[in-house]
Amino acid sequence: MPAPESTPDAENVWNLADLYASPQDPTVSSEMEKSLRAARDFQSDYQGKEIVSLDPPDFLRALKRYEAILEEGLKPFLYGSLLFSEDTQNAEYKSLLQKGKEAWNQLENALLFFRLALTCLPESRLKDFEDYPPLRDYRHALEFHRRFQPFTLKEKEEEIVNRKNLTGRSAFTNLFDEFTGSFVFQLKIGEEEKELTGSEMLALLHSPDRELRERAFRTFLQHHGQNSLVLAALFNALILDHRVEDEIRGYKEPMQRTHLENEISPEAVELMMGATETYYPLAQEYFQIKACLLGLPKLKNCDIYAPLPGGHRVLPLAEAKDLLLRSFGRFHPLFGRIAAEFFEKQWVDAKIRKGKYGGAFCSGLTPSLHPYLLLNYTGNLRDALTLAHEMGHGIHFYLARKQTLLNFDPPLTLAETASVFGEMIMAQALLRDEGDLEVRQALLCAEIEDIIATVFRQNVLTRFEQAVYDLRRDHLLSGEEIGNLWWRENEKLFGKAVEMVPEYRWGWSYISHFIHSRFYCYSYIFGELVVLTLYEKYLEEGETFIPGFVRLLESGGSASPDVLLARLGLDVNRADFWERGFKVIRNLIDELKSLGPWEKICVRQNL
Ligand SMILES: [Zn+2]
Repeated sequence: MPAPESTPDAENVWNLADLYASPQDPTVSSEMEKSLRAARDFQSDYQGKEIVSLDPPDFLRALKRYEAILEEGLKPFLYGSLLFSEDTQNAEYKSLLQKGKEAWNQLENALLFFRLALTCLPESRLKDFEDYPPLRDYRHALEFHRRFQPFTLKEKEEEIVNRKNLTGRSAFTNLFDEFTGSFVFQLKIGEEEKELTGSEMLALLHSPDRELRERAFRTFLQHHGQNSLVLAALFNALILDHRVEDEIRGYKEPMQRTHLENEISPEAVELMMGATETYYPLAQEYFQIKACLLGLPKLKNCDIYAPLPGGHRVLPLAEAKDLLLRSFGRFHPLFGRIAAEFFEKQWVDAKIRKGKYGGAFCSGLTPSLHPYLLLNYTGNLRDALTLAHEMGHGIHFYLARKQTLLNFDPPLTLAETASVFGEMIMAQALLRDEGDLEVRQALLCAEIEDIIATVFRQNVLTRFEQAVYDLRRDHLLSGEEIGNLWWRENEKLFGKAVEMVPEYRWGWSYISHFIHSRFYCYSYIFGELVVLTLYEKYLEEGETFIPGFVRLLESGGSASPDVLLARLGLDVNRADFWERGFKVIRNLIDELKSLGPWEKICVRQNL
């Protein structure tokens, strides 16, 4: 429950009363029932009818009704999820979320026929609908659904695939989650023998103790290696499953479906990945600097995220908030105003408390509601950047409320646009205000490491996935073979700058993206490089850049990423498009290098 306004912590806890008065509010249940009824009425009005032959005005009416039912149905479900994230141990919240989930599922099932009808819309009808001006706003949504038409099976076949997936793909992904989730690691920390979970082990990569970092990482990987029989079998089965389904649906190559979902051409993706590879030396240059800062001759791959002395700078929430409002406001008064509204109206939950979800997120909700932010603010620099990141998301959703639900969510590849931008603005403001050299170094390193993890590492992951899918066409792969491909791609990135620990051969086996959503990782590269490009454009053009940027955010998901970016004069299909993003990384590294005194600490490395 939100704290009453009179308590001093009220401003750090969100107020969900804009949704419902309380979890006991009878409106929660009555609205759930109302939207389910509306979905069933819609079903009986339209199912079995020739939706494609409706007149454009009738079709528009149906589409708007469909959209309104979805929007109303989402509200109680999203309320349950927000409450649950506030206190995951609260039985009342848990059961409300469960109830909301079930109601939402029923609603989606009742409306499924309409979604399929949209997918099957013939070209000629689409043309008629586009000629009817009030339907033009839905053009992108309709076209998006239609993209999958050639790969959609008959209703009965879709049902068979779905039902067989329960014992096929879903069973394997669940087994992966449960199996790796059950791993327990024994590790001696100081004098104590500890039992740790996988995420606790990986968190030790941020420990200041080098010996501990290495021992934790190697123990973690060894354990995966000992279970490689199961892990390799799961991976093999899933790759084959994807291939079989691709063949049934008519996809020509393993990445095609992902490209369609992302609305990006395969050529643009290849240009982007090729460009990223040519810039691997930038990452290597950074790794050498990091080694210097840590006083090491060379990094091992368990040292990449080692903390720097300046990283311990404390920044209380009030200070971070103040800096955020000033820096966002300096960027554009509108950004400052919206961010202030988030705090004034208690749309931000930053306070740490027992049972609260451990990460950070922005929930955009729906166009008729406003977004909420959740984070766990402990007071370090990373938290201040996370606050700016989530606020960026919040502003994106806030501005996209001009759209209706079907055009609201930004495409996946542009979803991080405002958030990363917000983070850059905040980091620059922190750097401007900071006099301590070590803190400045730590800040720049945090920024660069984020980019390396989002751009370069994801490129390695995607190249590895491509290689594995390729080889699996030929035969069943052993854990060693998969490990060799993994090693080869990582070696390209690390070059001579980073030594991999021998057990890193099993590094592929814990990455859940490979199991849950193949080829997902390249969308991170795309998203990050686009934002860096936009940031570079902003630095170049100054204020004149901003109106177009605001329009981009206001557009939500009303057009595909290439169309949205073309409005800003950017063409992702041009070979040189990706260069600008790398220029930002180059500049950050140069800025870090300018913070010397390098002659003292890097004399051995000849940097
Ligand atoms: Zn984000």
